[in-house]
Amino acid sequence: MKRFFISIIAAATCTCMSAATQNPVRNIIIMIGDGMGLSCVSMIQLENDFHTTVFDRADNIVLTRTYSLNNRVTDSAAAGTALATGHKTDNAHLGITPDGQPVESITSRAAAQGMPTGIVVTTYLQHATPAAFYAHTADRGALEDITRSLTDSGIDVAVGGGRKYFERTYPDGAWRDTLASRGYRVAEDIESLTTLGGSGRVMALLADKELPYDSGDMLAVATAKTLDLLDAESARRGDVGFVAMIEGSMIDYGAHGNEIEKLRGELRSFTMAIEAAVDFARTHEGTLVVVTSDHETGGLAIASADKDFLKSEQGISYRFACEGHTAQMCPVYLYGTGAELVNGIMENSELGAALISIIEQRQPNRLSRGDASGCERAAR
Ligand SMILES: [Zn+2]
Repeated sequence: MKRFFISIIAAATCTCMSAATQNPVRNIIIMIGDGMGLSCVSMIQLENDFHTTVFDRADNIVLTRTYSLNNRVTDSAAAGTALATGHKTDNAHLGITPDGQPVESITSRAAAQGMPTGIVVTTYLQHATPAAFYAHTADRGALEDITRSLTDSGIDVAVGGGRKYFERTYPDGAWRDTLASRGYRVAEDIESLTTLGGSGRVMALLADKELPYDSGDMLAVATAKTLDLLDAESARRGDVGFVAMIEGSMIDYGAHGNEIEKLRGELRSFTMAIEAAVDFARTHEGTLVVVTSDHETGGLAIASADKDFLKSEQGISYRFACEGHTAQMCPVYLYGTGAELVNGIMENSELGAALISIIEQRQPNRLSRGDASGCERAAR
């Protein structure tokens, strides 16, 4: 099966932008709704009475194929790795190929160019999707190793849960000194985060594990603050631009549990965060926002409540086909500068590679390579 998949990748026509062109993209904001399939987006449209949503205002759309190298139904580790590094891998693998070779993430490559980087999630920061952007391990469950990778990643702003894994990895309160020694200011609630000023490194650990469900606009507030912090740090380094990854992590949890209210709340929260990012892009020239999913979860269907399709509507029912992930393609919505640079139906890894390509082919006069301080390359 693996050989079959690899041959498909080799034969696939890459519809991403030409590698020869330069582009004016300065900032990339990657937004991942974990488990968010097209049905989730349809649900938001339907519940908004088909008034225009932020999804309907996308400047461009793409579809991705999400299978991993050892399973036609991916997990978040393999899918996150594909999006973060441009390489498909086996399920449960983070930032490495199936034979254990480390592959570099877009955040690591951006840092190597002197750009600040950030991650915002509603689950714990060591969870598979965020970890794909900084860790390299065959075991997504190795949370202490992953915590050490995060500590040494050089990511400038990290916001999410997972404080207990820092306490477990650096016991007796040593985690605070450890983070301080890496230059991090620590925030432990959203109010402390929003009152932080200036630029520089921030580690916001807002919960022991994941954030609570139905946290309203907390993800949107954290997103807006993180973008401001990264923008300030980018300006301090000479207007070098930044890369951020924002995840609506717990859409997946609601879908795994077939719990429509939890799913709805997490989708609303993620939608507000997308609106915050798109607002930032509209007021900050050179910003590309890419909204996608790592996989669909639950096989959500929006079914007519009445099987007689000749009648007027008798109501809607949400039905799940399973409690796991599915093999559906995932939608990608692009906004702002460079939205036209990625097109078509592609592998999730091709989308990741296209975004890395955009970072590495920006106009050189926008870049200042002089300040790469603190930009540890996690792949080493
Ligand atoms: Zn899942």
